[in-house]
Amino acid sequence: MDFETKLDRLAEVAVKVGLGLRAGQEVVMTAPIEALPLARRITRHAYKAGASLVTAFYGDDQSTLARFELGAPESFDTAPAWLFEGMAKAYANGAARLAIAGEDPALLAAQDPEKVSRANRARSKAYQPALQHIVDFHINWSILSFASPAWAKMVFPDVPLDTATAKLWEAIFAASRIDEADPVAAWNAHNDRLHSRKTFLNERRYAALHFRGPGTDLTVGLADGHEWAGGSETARNGVICNPNIPTEEVFTTPHSHRVEGHVTSTKPLSYQGTLIEGIAVRFEAGRIVEAKARTGEMVLRKVLETDAGAARLGEVALVPNSSPISKSGILFYNTLFDENAASHIALGQAYNKCIQGFEGLSEEALVTAGANRSLIHIDWMIGSGEVDVDGLSAAGTAEALMRGGEWVI
Ligand code: ZN
Ligand code: ZN
Repeated sequence: MDFETKLDRLAEVAVKVGLGLRAGQEVVMTAPIEALPLARRITRHAYKAGASLVTAFYGDDQSTLARFELGAPESFDTAPAWLFEGMAKAYANGAARLAIAGEDPALLAAQDPEKVSRANRARSKAYQPALQHIVDFHINWSILSFASPAWAKMVFPDVPLDTATAKLWEAIFAASRIDEADPVAAWNAHNDRLHSRKTFLNERRYAALHFRGPGTDLTVGLADGHEWAGGSETARNGVICNPNIPTEEVFTTPHSHRVEGHVTSTKPLSYQGTLIEGIAVRFEAGRIVEAKARTGEMVLRKVLETDAGAARLGEVALVPNSSPISKSGILFYNTLFDENAASHIALGQAYNKCIQGFEGLSEEALVTAGANRSLIHIDWMIGSGEVDVDGLSAAGTAEALMRGGEWVI
């Protein structure tokens, strides 16, 4: 199969599996300018599927860099709130949301962490109205990735740039099931497997999960009335979508005040252009009270100070060590891929939809159930072939869920 065919198949998967686009729906797409060949193919598939209008917004890494190098110091609390309000309006009117990621993961690594943190904070705050439609699943949405040369160079530093980009594309195609005879059918079968795992966990009603491994002894209490999710989701507009292409995780909402113990990251976290490696934190009553990192510690500390919920958990996810992305042995420096290679936790905002009957609950009731609140949501990896996971019942009985990073249920 040639590259153009695979790229077209990826675009088709984005529209049919990722968005599950419904005829007559508008699409709001964001993409790096370098992803134009993929964005154009997605646009074609969206119109073929009956989209009423596809509107794309293109970003550019070099222009972002120009801001950090030349922007007035006092300007870093600025964000395009008007744009995000417009997007929120589109979602409120039923538009689907597609994001293409693939920016240079280390773009801002050499920039002032203070400026990066202020810019991120302003952006997160301005983005809230749009983000709320996404996290509450008012609409069908999906995010997939594009192999930019800058990203490819980071993933495969020892080969010529063309080779690196080609290798990264192959890895994206493989992880996105594009190589299968019928990618859409392969996604249906994969979704069935994730759904059966999610159903098992929902029936067990564990009070907590216990992670044990090198540098890790962590008990993550689960939110009251938590609901496990994974694979395709039915958005509140009734459309079935796959929010992440690829995806290998089942996940739920932890209790923001019931996390105890210490945990060590098992893969580097690439956060807004900075690599944070060797994270080691300790939790007390749900809050991180000690935090260290081998690299990027300053950025990590800034992240934890974002707001009151930034040092608490909003997600816990289980991924077997034998997942195809993990088996590829590639470190992608991209959460969308790396979080599907290992079990993980996320700092910050919880998904309301991972609480049973969330539609009928007040904000206060959701928070009381344990749903964390923050401007951030940052996943980092804590699973590996050396990590065991138990499910703990309310009475404290432990059941083995994973041994050596593999499901035993
Ligand atoms: Zn996750
Ligand atoms: Zn997450």
